[in-house]
Amino acid sequence: MNKLKIELERTKIELGILYEISNAMRTTLKLDEILYIILTGVTAHTGLGFNRAMLFLVNEKERIIEGKMGIGPESGEEANAAWTKIEEEKMDLDDLINAFKNSSSVLESGFNRQVRSLKVSMYDKNENPLSLAVLEGMPLHLTSQAIQKYSNSPVIKMLESSELLLIPLKAKDRVNGIIVADNFITNDPITKDDIRMLTMLANQAGLAIENSQLFELTVERAHSDYLTNLWNHGYFQYLLQTEMEKAKATKNKLSLVTIDIDNFKVYNDTLGHQIGDKILKDLAQLLRNQSRKMDHVCRYGGEEFTIILPQTDQKEAYMIAERLRVDIQKYPFLNEGIFPNKMLTVSLGIATFPENGQLPADLITSSDKSLYKAKSQGRNTTCCS
Ligand code: GH3
Ligand code: MG
Ligand code: MG
Repeated sequence: MNKLKIELERTKIELGILYEISNAMRTTLKLDEILYIILTGVTAHTGLGFNRAMLFLVNEKERIIEGKMGIGPESGEEANAAWTKIEEEKMDLDDLINAFKNSSSVLESGFNRQVRSLKVSMYDKNENPLSLAVLEGMPLHLTSQAIQKYSNSPVIKMLESSELLLIPLKAKDRVNGIIVADNFITNDPITKDDIRMLTMLANQAGLAIENSQLFELTVERAHSDYLTNLWNHGYFQYLLQTEMEKAKATKNKLSLVTIDIDNFKVYNDTLGHQIGDKILKDLAQLLRNQSRKMDHVCRYGGEEFTIILPQTDQKEAYMIAERLRVDIQKYPFLNEGIFPNKMLTVSLGIATFPENGQLPADLITSSDKSLYKAKSQGRNTTCCS
């Protein structure tokens, strides 16, 4: 009777923990926050209580399994410090999760960086326990003996665990990730209850991750131009506003480049709009490939493009624009013999914050004027305000 009571009491606590984690997952659609909530649930003393937890996602397109986040101490001292703080400040799951939303210092930890650098093939199931867990879709409990078999796997090498638990995450029938957990510091054995709890959590986690990925994809599509896949006009306006506010706050410069194809009407009138569209796609790709990661390449409309260059003064923007102009002139576009000077060229106009305006609209007008100047100077030219 006593045993039954204890078991009932434990089930009550377990359900409470799962309920708390799944409620937390419903408060956000941001993937990073979802992952953090899951891993906090797995590692918190008031959660499942593992020493370390990592989350890997399946990338079907590239056929790999990628490390996305890891939470856990790198040494016994670090563990003691973190756990003492949590104890002293009486932090529950909610407090831990809010701590992340306010400052994401967890993401800067060495352990997280190591986890994020791990990428393994999806199909390498003999060498690599992650692939095995994904392909079989079953929990994998690796005891100290079983781990030896995988001693060459990069994940096992990095973790140096003596015992490890891998639980696949599922969205409907598809495995979309894995939670990996261990007791690296305390060496507590992994119990049947641990496995059961983590499996229940994983079922919810897989769905929460899928929802968040679908949401992020939808948002990205809503901001993209259907033909070129560049940012569309609406999102360009948003990006320019945001980047100008950032530039103001940090006392940085920012430049805007407007690009217009020269004599595009001739090309379209001769070959038709469909072939014209093909060129717009190729040009968009070239612009994206030749831009820095921090730049925002947008389709302003029709055959006009804009590039927002954060932290870039007029002189640097001019160099970037000129490099683009020459790259475009050299690129062998389809049927470019149709153009008056036998090649596709563009004209570019530059405006720079703060000297050419304080508001997004001022900067757009100013770069438009520069573009007009470039056209009137004979095209295939870059002009500044
Ligand atoms: P300019 O050198 O002065 O820029 O001459 P232009 O002929 O390029 O003139 P303008 O910039 O006014 O270009 C307008 C032409 O661009 C009209 C149309 O034929 C073409 N165009 C605009 N949007 C699209 C589009 O979405 N697809 C295609 N295929 N053509 C477009
Ligand atoms: Mg135009
Ligand atoms: Mg044009």
